[in-house]
Amino acid sequence: MSAHMLSGRELATAMRTQAGEGAAKLADRGVTVQLAVVVATREESAWWYVRSLEKAGTNLDIACRVVDLGPEASAESLAAPLGELSADGGVHGIILQAPLPPGARLPQLALQIDPDKDVDGASPVSLGRLTVGLPAFAPATAQAVLRLLDFHGIELSGQRAVVVGRSAVVGKPVAQLLLARDATVTICHSRTRDLAEVTSAADLLVVAAGRAGLITAQHVRPGAVVIDVGTNPTADGRLTGDVDADGVATTAGALSPVPGGVGPVTTAQLLLNTVTTASGRSGG
Ligand code: NAP
Repeated sequence: MSAHMLSGRELATAMRTQAGEGAAKLADRGVTVQLAVVVATREESAWWYVRSLEKAGTNLDIACRVVDLGPEASAESLAAPLGELSADGGVHGIILQAPLPPGARLPQLALQIDPDKDVDGASPVSLGRLTVGLPAFAPATAQAVLRLLDFHGIELSGQRAVVVGRSAVVGKPVAQLLLARDATVTICHSRTRDLAEVTSAADLLVVAAGRAGLITAQHVRPGAVVIDVGTNPTADGRLTGDVDADGVATTAGALSPVPGGVGPVTTAQLLLNTVTTASGRSGG
């Protein structure tokens, strides 16, 4: 038996269409939806992502303002532009692109982002609001995981969910969102003892560790749903996930591919979040 593939492409297309329709309605009212992306790196993969956002935005009449501070920018020098963009009425969403300069801490800097424009849920204010059930944007990747599960009709209430990874951008917010949907959630990390014992109890396994091939068939309960958030560059320039897809496909009931799973939904979610703030609505 082979796992059902949880593709994100069809969903992402529908979400982009929705974002484009929202942006067009706002344009009719004289509002140009604008997403600002603050970058302080020359790392190729970061720029690839920024360019892909710009391109997707352009196709949907969502302007992307890239604020390139250069790789020499100090941690301190990032705070002021974030504050200025927050105060700028023409900007509806703000992203601080990783990686950050040495010494810069994302949660600290993200405090400068107006929570209403925090379309990638980077601010500790957003994560705090999410935790207590107040409206807030979760990081787009975490939202994308839930969107993908819903799109494929996967039941969450009462399910045993295991999240591998505890970062503030993926693991923790995914766990919060699953908890809010009444899953019973366990979070694993690099110090978890006997990872396979914990993960193989899961009905739903979400993996966001950034370790290619970490999850093999022995980590997965037969029939489980596996969401692979990992994006690891390969030597030949492709992307691979954290899950050994070939091995796990014979055990899992359903598996999201890399690429083509969570990734495209994440980009679409960011654009949709920006249209939401431009419409005067808040996240959540
Ligand atoms: P991160 O900040 O490096 O966090 C990785 C997490 O995985 C940490 O909590 C770490 O544990 C845990 N971990 C590492 N090795 C482990 C192991 N052997 N066993 C169990 N847990 C382990 O990474 P991130 O920013 O969350 O991103 C995770 C992955 O998702 C990356 O591949 C990233 O590229 C990808 N990603 C994809 C998207 C998308 O749109 N598809 C978006 C964002 C990120 P400790 O806390 O103990 O160190």
